[in-house]
Amino acid sequence: MMGDARPLAGRHALVTGGGRGIGAAIARQMLALGAAVTITGRDAGRLDKAAGDMAGLGRAQGIAVDVNDAQAIQSGFAQAAQTFGPIAVLVNNAGIAKAAPFAKTDLSLWNDILRTDLTGAFLCTQAALPDMLKAGWGRVVNVASTAGLTGMAYCAAYCAAKHGLIGMTRALAVELAAKPVTVNAVCPGYTETDIVEETIANIVAKTGRTRQDALAQLVAANPQQRLIKPEEVAEAVAWLCLPGSSAITGQSIAVAGGELM
Ligand code: NDP
Repeated sequence: MMGDARPLAGRHALVTGGGRGIGAAIARQMLALGAAVTITGRDAGRLDKAAGDMAGLGRAQGIAVDVNDAQAIQSGFAQAAQTFGPIAVLVNNAGIAKAAPFAKTDLSLWNDILRTDLTGAFLCTQAALPDMLKAGWGRVVNVASTAGLTGMAYCAAYCAAKHGLIGMTRALAVELAAKPVTVNAVCPGYTETDIVEETIANIVAKTGRTRQDALAQLVAANPQQRLIKPEEVAEAVAWLCLPGSSAITGQSIAVAGGELM
């Protein structure tokens, strides 16, 4: 990163789920590196506000795209490229998480999580890849999870989706190895965002434990005994997108305080 303070100047980065949480931190980091940034999500109002808040950092726009809708992805990505040029960096960050015992994981919960966290990333990558190949440079970074690298109780659907996302990352990295496009994943541990707030509220409601106890349960697996900050995940994503990271592909990098080694 040393030398060029804005190594992504002239590039267009699109971050799915970029209106809040980890995605918003990644979008800010991409702007800091000089990229023009499109953030997508389902909530147009939130995206406009978030893009407005980021405007001081560089060129940012919000476009409503539901990653469950293949048509909306194609048209939303085309609209994004009209303003900021071909997409050179795609961060597949949009995702949902819901815990349930295996016996209570009904087909609708299973399908919701697989469709958003795995099929959504597949569709977005298919939409963005042709421009990267045409331009002769690209970065795909998938925001997976430590749940993509190991099993976790009450998370069969989420673990399956995130393991699948890592599988897609590895397969596509090999397929594209001879091209100047890298494909990697970052795997956060529990991170300070709405998803974790909902998880804590869920534990409190289901077990009667205090918020503090529920939080302690979540950070117990992290040797640093704390939640990860969205900015720490964003730093790892940014590093993978640097021009000098071109030899790094097919990797799944845990940003989890040593939770997995
Ligand atoms: P948040 O709930 O804060 O943000 C989720 C983002 O995904 C929102 O911007 C939301 O936008 C977007 N999103 C959800 N569903 C859709 C959809 N169908 N179409 C388009 N956008 C969608 O969560 P985080 O920031 O924590 O999560 C970001 C990613 O990080 C997820 O993939 C998650 O699995 C992963 N992760 C999170 C961890 C954590 O502990 N927080 C740990 C490990 C991984 P909108 O609501 O506007 O549609």
